[in-house]
Amino acid sequence: AKAAGRGERRVFDPAIERESRRRLRLTAELRNALAQKEFALHYQPKVELTSGRVIGLEALLRWQHPVFGLQPPDRFLPVAEQSGLIVEIGAWALAEAARTAAELNRRGHAVQIAVNVSPVQFHRDDIPGLMRRILTETGAEPGWVSVELTETVLADRTARTLACFNALREMGIGLAMDDFGTGFASLDQLRSLPFTEVKLDRSFVRNLDRDPVQSAIVTGVLGVAHALGITAICEGVETEAERRHLMMLGCPVAQGYLFSLPLAQEDLFWLLDKHASL
Ligand code: C2E
Ligand code: CA
Ligand code: CA
Ligand code: CA
Repeated sequence: AKAAGRGERRVFDPAIERESRRRLRLTAELRNALAQKEFALHYQPKVELTSGRVIGLEALLRWQHPVFGLQPPDRFLPVAEQSGLIVEIGAWALAEAARTAAELNRRGHAVQIAVNVSPVQFHRDDIPGLMRRILTETGAEPGWVSVELTETVLADRTARTLACFNALREMGIGLAMDDFGTGFASLDQLRSLPFTEVKLDRSFVRNLDRDPVQSAIVTGVLGVAHALGITAICEGVETEAERRHLMMLGCPVAQGYLFSLPLAQEDLFWLLDKHASL
């Protein structure tokens, strides 16, 4: 802690001090992890409910820590965002997903890979320009990739945000509104922005089979999505009862542990080569 100025009394809080040291250390570790290529993407299937076919994948970031093992994003994303490192990590993820999408589609698997893009990354980087370069470098078709954005991207709905959305859509890249229903994203945003997908948060899927209110909410969103020509995806499907209920409500696509955990790339290739449907 620094000495307080003359006459000033600075409260020394060891918890804050510890936290800021932790953040600094983690920032340095993340920078090193990028250089050492310790990040990986795991892939979770998106399943068409009527056929069981895997029609897409969501790429989920993991950090293979040399000592502590596989780290999920909630362990390091906040610090990656605060430090701005998410711009580089996120750019790596988009390129890696495009490489995988190119390889899978060339092997005959018609799948689109969705990548989560952080609001920090979205606002600081030129995502359409980056995607253009990535598609050229990887040879991936625009339709083989999509981006998932949470409503926080829309918190300041500037002309730039709109221009980025339109540029991605004009290129043919899919655009998903993620975690729909959990925050302040509105039906109006769904209607007026060029989304191709809406992902219903897992909190609406839980107990769907036993809770008529949950069921009514899901039915409503499915109806709106259908009318707009947007694909609705229900996230976090864990039970057979939830799957059956979603099918009954006409949900086209679902994702969740019932079908598959997020898979490392080699397990994904194995799964898709063995069974194209789940
Ligand atoms: P998300 O985009 O909402 O991703 C879905 C999360 O739910 C993933 O957690 C996934 O593993 C988990 N999940 C999937 N199926 C089920 C299920 O049936 N039950 C339950 N309880 N959970 C399920 P994960 O991989 O830990 O990712 C957490 C969040 O981190 C993601 O939430 C996303 O917001 C963020 N994230 C992941 N990868 C990236 C990335 O490459 N870039 C950025 N900016 N954010 C990422
Ligand atoms: Ca997502
Ligand atoms: Ca989500
Ligand atoms: Ca989420």
